[in-house]
Amino acid sequence: MTARLHENPLLGTADLPDFAALRPEHVSPALDVLLAEAEAALVLAADGHEAAADYDDLARVLDVPVERLRRAWGHVCHLQAVADTPELRAVHAENLPRITDFSTRLASDPGLYARYKALAAGPQAASLTPARRKVLADAVRDFVLGGAELQGADRERFAALQEQLAALSKRFGDNVLDAVDAYALFVDEDRLAGVPADVVRAAREAASAEGRAGCKLTLQLPCYLPVMQHAEDRALREQIYGAWARRASELGEARFDNSPLMREIVELRQEEARLLGYPSYAHLSLVPKMARSPEEVLGFVHDLARRARPFAERELAELQAFARGTLGIAELQPWDRSFAAERLKQQRYAFGSEEVRPYFTLPRVLEGLFELIGRLFGVRIDEEPASTWHDSVRFFRVRRQGPGALPVAGFYLDLHARTGKQGGAWMDSARQRWRRPEGALQLPLAHLVCNFAAPVGDQPALLTHDDVITLFHEFGHGLHHMLTQVDEVAASGISGVEWDACELPSQFMENFCWEWPVLQRLSSHVDTGEALPRALFERMLAARNFHNGLAMLRHCEYGLFDMRLHLEPGRAGQETALAFEVAALLSPAVPAPFLRYPHSFTHLFDGGYAAGYYGYAWAEVLSADAFSAFEEAGLFDPATGERFREAVLESGGSRPAMDSFKAFRGREPKLDALLRHQGLLPDETGGRAAALPA
Ligand code: ZN
Repeated sequence: MTARLHENPLLGTADLPDFAALRPEHVSPALDVLLAEAEAALVLAADGHEAAADYDDLARVLDVPVERLRRAWGHVCHLQAVADTPELRAVHAENLPRITDFSTRLASDPGLYARYKALAAGPQAASLTPARRKVLADAVRDFVLGGAELQGADRERFAALQEQLAALSKRFGDNVLDAVDAYALFVDEDRLAGVPADVVRAAREAASAEGRAGCKLTLQLPCYLPVMQHAEDRALREQIYGAWARRASELGEARFDNSPLMREIVELRQEEARLLGYPSYAHLSLVPKMARSPEEVLGFVHDLARRARPFAERELAELQAFARGTLGIAELQPWDRSFAAERLKQQRYAFGSEEVRPYFTLPRVLEGLFELIGRLFGVRIDEEPASTWHDSVRFFRVRRQGPGALPVAGFYLDLHARTGKQGGAWMDSARQRWRRPEGALQLPLAHLVCNFAAPVGDQPALLTHDDVITLFHEFGHGLHHMLTQVDEVAASGISGVEWDACELPSQFMENFCWEWPVLQRLSSHVDTGEALPRALFERMLAARNFHNGLAMLRHCEYGLFDMRLHLEPGRAGQETALAFEVAALLSPAVPAPFLRYPHSFTHLFDGGYAAGYYGYAWAEVLSADAFSAFEEAGLFDPATGERFREAVLESGGSRPAMDSFKAFRGREPKLDALLRHQGLLPDETGGRAAALPA
């Protein structure tokens, strides 16, 4: 053994983990200990032993070691994401299979399932708190959806389906990646007029790396998008768009054709649903979600599409007129749309993110954000020293305002991009709130991670407005995790929250980034100290709603395609036909006859979004509607903040998300607020049409 166990930070019991001391050589020895404890606990809990007879006993026997294992493994995964080294990656890869294996057995153990079922239906259940009953119900539901009730041949078939589906999905995703990677178009640099210089430079370097002259264009997004948006050469755009639209389909290279995989995936999903007793995969997919039925989702999507349609029609007509009049494009084709839209947008709102950035210094933005959170939710946030994985990472404690200033949570803030750190932004749990079986209250810890540009010299870091929105978004998730008052580990914070409701608090917080009084508090010019000028804010606001009608319809189109594909019998193998049928129904723009978007729709065929794509728009409706309560009562109204905290943030997964929403809003969600925010209400004076500069 290379490290002494009592010095292993993954086995420590201190309030905060000693991240600075954690080394790759600690990982395997700690997991040996923690996995052995968890394995023993699973045996004890699953074999009907009396020591795990009631809710508290089961928590003591099973949840304590399992939570300890998950927490330690979570630290390892976190470090691998934010401070990766070859050594850490190696121990992560080495240990991942045994963690996955344990999790799979924990989720499908027949003895454990019987135990949960007995607890959920037993005489004691009625005296449990609603949160505990929800935990048991969720656990039983997840076992059932994992095939726990199936017997004999059905059980075997179900397991085979899971395996086949995983393999087919993987192949689907690989085909899309490979089709994109296999494509290259070499062109002379003079054909790239209009394309940003850094994109041209990258294309030139890519060509010369292969010993070729000119520029190498690919279907990778950092190349494809700017070419479609900016290349003045129309024939070039048509060529690249054609390759993009046909990728991984029967119209592209045969070896990457996803047609047979799609058909098989949809067929097998329908079979899986039938085995579990559901009429379609769409019905099955919605069981653990907030939306109650496929009909409700269809109604939702159609309603949204109907309301966005007139705006999309106007936007398209405007774009066509602009293309004809200004760009000399008589008939706007699919490969012209991004290009024309970009030109129109520039002409109307001309401002760059660089113009806005000097107003958003990181210290000022954080100060403004913490002040806002304090005013809304009655907490205060103070920095404290803590052991971390990098010098730039800071730790903060969240306390209730008022006497005693009781701590409620803590969070690590890791905001800047650096080597060894994964891109993107996310919130992750480092620890969950839990009234532990031995009686102690464990407080939640969060990781808030972004990838903003680091400060240069002695100047503070400057954020774009998009960065500010990202920060607010992740803080929304963080508040959901940290302000929870639920005592059950499986239902506190974001645990047990329906998948299509998870983005409510995060998207809710984003709305504040578009409010003038908030932006004034967040901004202070790096040189002059001046707040963001009102005129600049107005231009940002107007540009925000540019082509929202078309964007909304595209979301609806994908959502409707997804839901109908997984709902209607006999759709397997009809993906292309259905895609055109849905486009004809919803969209004012005519798609290219060779467009094959289903063939590269990885969200549906190699991701978790099957019969769930509507979730994006769904969560936006919830968050916009929740935010409109603040617009009605006053942006900083403490009573509304308290109600939101109690109804939504504190209650986590302890009850259905619809109940939480209704507890806050007093009714079910409505579309109006989202449509108003996006400038998609016909009679809204402050809406899109009026916000456009002449
Ligand atoms: Zn999010």
